[in-house]
Amino acid sequence: MVRTRFAPSPTGFLHIGNLRSAVYPYAWAKNTGGKFILRIEDTDRERYVEGGIEAIKNTLEKFGISWDEYYVQSERKAAGIYAKAAEKLISSGHAFYCQCAAKNAKEEGFSNQLRDPCRDRGYISGAVKLKIPDNETVSYHDFVLDKDVSWSTDTVYDATLLKSDGFPTYHLAAMTDDLDMQISHIIRGHDWMPSTPIHLLVFQYLGGVRPEIGHLTDIQSPKGGKLSKRKDSVFCETFLNDGYLPDALLNFVILLGWAPKDNRELFTLSEFVRAFDPKGFQKSNPVFHTEKLDWFNGHYIRQISDTEITRLVKPYVKNDVEDTKLMQIIPLIKDRLVKLSDFPRLTSFFFSLPVFDPALFTAPDADLLLLSSAYDYLTSVTDWSKTGIETGWTDNIKASGRKVGDFFMALRIAVCGSRFTPPITDTMVVLGRDEVLTRIRQTIDNLKLKIKN
Ligand code: GLU
Repeated sequence: MVRTRFAPSPTGFLHIGNLRSAVYPYAWAKNTGGKFILRIEDTDRERYVEGGIEAIKNTLEKFGISWDEYYVQSERKAAGIYAKAAEKLISSGHAFYCQCAAKNAKEEGFSNQLRDPCRDRGYISGAVKLKIPDNETVSYHDFVLDKDVSWSTDTVYDATLLKSDGFPTYHLAAMTDDLDMQISHIIRGHDWMPSTPIHLLVFQYLGGVRPEIGHLTDIQSPKGGKLSKRKDSVFCETFLNDGYLPDALLNFVILLGWAPKDNRELFTLSEFVRAFDPKGFQKSNPVFHTEKLDWFNGHYIRQISDTEITRLVKPYVKNDVEDTKLMQIIPLIKDRLVKLSDFPRLTSFFFSLPVFDPALFTAPDADLLLLSSAYDYLTSVTDWSKTGIETGWTDNIKASGRKVGDFFMALRIAVCGSRFTPPITDTMVVLGRDEVLTRIRQTIDNLKLKIKN
């Protein structure tokens, strides 16, 4: 049975790389009727962030990623599980007690030595370190990279397994757990690759069925180098707050390191579960292209109903805006909505008078005439609906010898304050007759002033 796990450390919000490390094992387990395990790796007390565990669970839930089993390493530590594993390694001669404080070891210049000076001192207490054998080869087949990888143990250092405070390091805790929890496949970040020989030895010495191991590629920043907190936006919550839909972000992340045999790009979580194939893991590093994420977001926004969009844009609009108003506006701007947070910028002119920008009128004299004729025509409209406004309008414009394109451009600028607007008649219907006429009147007055000066 496939048993996979996501093993985050609660050191802050989940980032894009974490989401990828969660969705792949989830899909693998669900695709095969296996089990997906959430394991909180919270034994590094210095990096522990208060509320971190809840934040991880909340974010996973937003993406629809649920787990079948749940473990917390600090609880397992309290139950003595890692101390027992360490003792087992000591008694079989594969680990030893060390009494150099980490700091002293460094000061004494031992930090560069692969073989710890305590390994032959026979201490009976202290931190526990792995006794790396000399002149052996350790190897495994990486299922992501699809290649055999091996190391000579002569290049591997005596890694700490249990610190002197009794807390296990990742090297001991994660391997003990992967065995205990009968994990079949470990999917983890590429930064763990250098530590893999240590892990292979720990697995071997603890005994049991070793999981298969795969290291995911590194996500690259479009600015160059690895994607990183320092230079890029990386936290899932930041993207969600910025108005990316969970489905869109997840779809984008799925394809950062995995690809189907065909060129299909659209996957909801359940579709990904169905399509998942471990052969789809990519070997070359993907680049985080925000434009691609934007494309997915636009796509998913257009998949949901206007009622749902109304609910989703609420956090981005002023409190007093009514749902009925939003329901009128959304169909008009939906095609241009990339992120939910763009909503206020795209729709500001529906809620407040646009600022008169003289630079938008490139031919003020001609525009003045166009707007005056628009004003005259619109005052004569009795039925303020799309058909009521549009019937006979274009003929009327043509008959007066004006260019239809120029006419509507002047009108767009007067009504919306921009050259790029939703369909103008629909917009005018939503704004209402009085508001539209006021805006055109004011623009005419402003243009006259501009021409005079
Ligand atoms: N706690 C480790 C991390 O967050 C887990 C790595 C793994 O999946 O084994 O990097």
